[in-house]
Amino acid sequence: MKGQDLGPLVGCHNSASGGVHNALLEAKSLNATASQLFTSNQKQWRGKKISDEEVEKWDLAKAASDVKVVISHDGYLINLGSHDKELLVKSRVAFIEEIERCLALDLDFLNFHPGTATDKNPERCLDTIIESLLSFAPLFEKKRKLKLVLEATAGQGNTVGHTFEHIAYIIESCHRKIPLGVCIDTCHIFAAGYDIRTSAAWDKTLKEFDKVVGLKHLDCMHLNDSLKGLGSRVDRHSCLGFGEIGIEAFKFVMQDKRLKHLPKCLETPQKEARWEDEIQMLKDFYYEKH
Ligand SMILES: [Zn+2]
Ligand SMILES: [Zn+2]
Repeated sequence: MKGQDLGPLVGCHNSASGGVHNALLEAKSLNATASQLFTSNQKQWRGKKISDEEVEKWDLAKAASDVKVVISHDGYLINLGSHDKELLVKSRVAFIEEIERCLALDLDFLNFHPGTATDKNPERCLDTIIESLLSFAPLFEKKRKLKLVLEATAGQGNTVGHTFEHIAYIIESCHRKIPLGVCIDTCHIFAAGYDIRTSAAWDKTLKEFDKVVGLKHLDCMHLNDSLKGLGSRVDRHSCLGFGEIGIEAFKFVMQDKRLKHLPKCLETPQKEARWEDEIQMLKDFYYEKH
């Protein structure tokens, strides 16, 4: 995909209720060029395998849409850094099943939350996450399109991954052994303490990311405004321009050449704004500059 100009890649988290292909039908109805979905119920441990019939429906829906990049979001129960042995095993099994569903649908990215240090030991948690990720290496021995992407978190509760240093530590330890990149969620990094409200602030934060993690590892973005303030470490999304971040930040994201090629998905509530309008606004920002 690199080097090819695909235009603005924007979409939102689409509902896969009634079948995964429905996410693409929804994306199409919103004029989206990217899509994110849960490939199984995000609140349950066991997910169903993707059947041949579903793959067929998926391929047809994809061909009929303008969606060029598809991202799966892992389930909420999974904690790859759990200190509880039983939960860790369950999480790894569920994650492997998730990888298999992504491969069946030929997805581009699998976005996942790094993990939670329920024992309040973030260092141990980070090492357990690395161990989990490396255990998935055999699934990637054959060359695959799928890439795992680590989502930067808000640092709510005991979640890890809210500092660029945490992210760098995981990436450094794994990226040569498994295909692994990063997803920046604007609400999360802002709540974690990285200012992005003005173009100068965004520039400083991006330079910091580049210095600590490396911009070459950045693969996706989640675009959400934040209900809570800078450094609040509270993860509450709001519609673009209706939160503490403000609209300028999203204009910057769509216009800055370092971020231009990245797929960007909204996870905003359908409240003050509708996804269709937000997607159109992001496209307009892009075309103002390109
Ligand atoms: Zn997100
Ligand atoms: Zn969030």
